[in-house]
Amino acid sequence: MFGREELEERIQITETTVECPVKNCDKKVERQKGVFKREEKFKCPKHNIYISPSTFEYENELRNLLWKDKTDLDFFNKIKKVKRESRIARDNSEDALTWNVFRFLERNKLLCEFLQNLIHICEDKIEIIYWSYSQSQESVWDMSNRGREEFELVHSKGSEPDVIILGDKNLIFIEAKFCANNETIPYKLYVEDKYVSGGNGRWNKVFRCDFKTVAAENKKYELSRFWLIGSWIAKQLHRNFYLINITLSKRGENIEEIFKKHIVENNSRIFKRITWEQIYGYISNSNFSADDKKIIIRYFKNKSMGYDSNGILQHAFSIS
Ligand SMILES: [Zn+2]
Repeated sequence: MFGREELEERIQITETTVECPVKNCDKKVERQKGVFKREEKFKCPKHNIYISPSTFEYENELRNLLWKDKTDLDFFNKIKKVKRESRIARDNSEDALTWNVFRFLERNKLLCEFLQNLIHICEDKIEIIYWSYSQSQESVWDMSNRGREEFELVHSKGSEPDVIILGDKNLIFIEAKFCANNETIPYKLYVEDKYVSGGNGRWNKVFRCDFKTVAAENKKYELSRFWLIGSWIAKQLHRNFYLINITLSKRGENIEEIFKKHIVENNSRIFKRITWEQIYGYISNSNFSADDKKIIIRYFKNKSMGYDSNGILQHAFSIS
């Protein structure tokens, strides 16, 4: 995996070419434009990466993952069968970041402590569901399917939180962001009817405004689907519901203020933003010590997030 230590601080970008970002590599490839493409003419054959002016993608996605012993890989392959789109091989992939961080917490049995530290909730026993794949059910979590059926028109476009944590008392939906922001809009406005009428008109119980205002005008389609469906599932399961949005500390600072204007919260239904840097802080301060900790700390410190338009490497996290 390439990060700040392995990558050039600055790369040369011309109208027609881009330099391989790996230190001391003199390969130049054709400059690609528009949607990212994996084509031979954009690949550095020495480093097996596809290059664009702003980012790169590994030929083999496993190079972007920290945890890939047999157990992890078997698990990862099961998830991939149910997961929708995936750009996990891309350096700026939020899915790869999510896998690397949450799988670290899970492998090392730190998830309950993480919940207590960062979300202030207590659970003794939890199940973690990545991209709707339930480990106990060995398929898409049945409640995800029920939520989709209740509120969504097209199954293939159904809601898929990055991570779901199910405890005895709480249901937590986690939407993780890295380079992208929270702005998404409905692909078609006719999806509105089912969202608003589903769950016996649940929309009006958990939102202060109508679908068009929050999902289309304010571009919070994705978060509003999770708020609606997650809180409905939590009600069926008699759990409290938390929707957690993870962002970089330098992005999404106002998301709580913005989203909370539209939703009806109470003691058992809460929206909260936390940052990747807070998670890093929790991990680095924890008493836990094992090789995995060294690996994840180095990952956070070394993680980059592509090049800006001047060809300058961007640091991912604001940590020292
Ligand atoms: Zn190269």
